[in-house]
Amino acid sequence: MGFKLTAPLWTAEFIFHGTGNSGSVPNIECLTATLGDHDQPCRTCHAALTPEGRKNRRRNTGAIIRLRRQNGTEMTVVIDVGKNFRESALEWFTKYGLRKIDAVLLTHAHADAVNGLDDLRVEHGRIFPIPNTTHNSTPASSHLNTPSSNLLPPIHFGERKPSDGLPYFSMGFVLVDIVYISDVSHIPDYTWDWILAVKNMQYTALIVDCLRIKPHISHFGLAQAVATARKLGAQRTYMVGFSHEILHDDWERLGKYFQNSRTITPSHGDTNHTITKAVEDIPKEPSVWIRPAYDGLRFLWDSNGVIQDLNSEFNDNELG
Ligand SMILES: [Zn+2]
Ligand SMILES: [Zn+2]
Repeated sequence: MGFKLTAPLWTAEFIFHGTGNSGSVPNIECLTATLGDHDQPCRTCHAALTPEGRKNRRRNTGAIIRLRRQNGTEMTVVIDVGKNFRESALEWFTKYGLRKIDAVLLTHAHADAVNGLDDLRVEHGRIFPIPNTTHNSTPASSHLNTPSSNLLPPIHFGERKPSDGLPYFSMGFVLVDIVYISDVSHIPDYTWDWILAVKNMQYTALIVDCLRIKPHISHFGLAQAVATARKLGAQRTYMVGFSHEILHDDWERLGKYFQNSRTITPSHGDTNHTITKAVEDIPKEPSVWIRPAYDGLRFLWDSNGVIQDLNSEFNDNELG
C-alpha cells in the first residue's frame, strides 16, 4: 500500500512580476510630503526605500508563468504589462534567466495592465493580446495545453459608477490549475459556476485582488479576498494589487491570522491599531492559507498539484 508516485508531466514556475496597484508603491507624493508636527510619514512608502522593507516596493500587478513539459519544451506566458513592466523585466528576467515571451494575456485595458506593450515590440515578435470581450479559449491560453486551461468569463470589475450603466469587465484566467483574478470588485454567479465546473478537485492556487483593507468601487478589500479564498478552497491564496495603506508585514500578520485563527496584535508603530480593527467584522473561521504576494516571489507547481516555494520564508510546512 502507499502512494504511487508518478513523474509530473510538466512543471511550472509562477513569478509575481508586480503586486501593486495602478499608482504602484512607493507613492512619490508620500516621499516628498512636507509634514507638520503631528503628521506621520507614510510607513509603507518609506519602508519601500530600505533593503529590509523591499517587499513594500510594488510595481503594477502582473505575473510570469514558465511551463516546462516532460519532453523538454518550454513556454513563457506573461499576464499584464503595465506602466512599470520594463523595470520589472529588467529585474526579474535577468535574475531568473527569462528571455523569450510566448504569449501575453491582458486582464483589462488600463495603463497599469497594457502600457508596457510597446516595450515588448522591441524584443518579441509574437504577441497575442486578448481583447476584454472574448469568452473563449485563445491561442495563448490553449498553448498551455491542458483540459482545464481556459479563460474565465469576464469578472465584474465595477470601475464605473452603477448609474453609468454597464460594469467594466476585467478578465480572470484559469491557468492549468491556478485561478488568477487580479482586478475585481464582484465575481458574478455565472463566473463562479464556470470556475467551479472546470475543476472538481482542489485548485493549487488562487491569486486574488486586495487593494486595501476596505473594499473599493473597482477592487476587493480584505473581507472579499478572504471570502473568495474560502469559497474556492485552493491550497494557497496569494493576494495582489496592494496600495500603500499598510506594510507588507501587516498583510503577513493578517494572512497568518486567517490561517491559524489566532489573535492579532498591531505591529510596531501602528498607533491606530489598523490591522486589529481590520479583522473585527470578518469571520475567523474557516481557516484558509492566505498570504500577500510581493514582487519577485516565485513558486513551483506541477501536474501532480504539488506546490513548492522558491523563496525561503514560506518553506516551513505551513500547508499542514
Ligand atoms: Zn505612501
Ligand atoms: Zn487598472
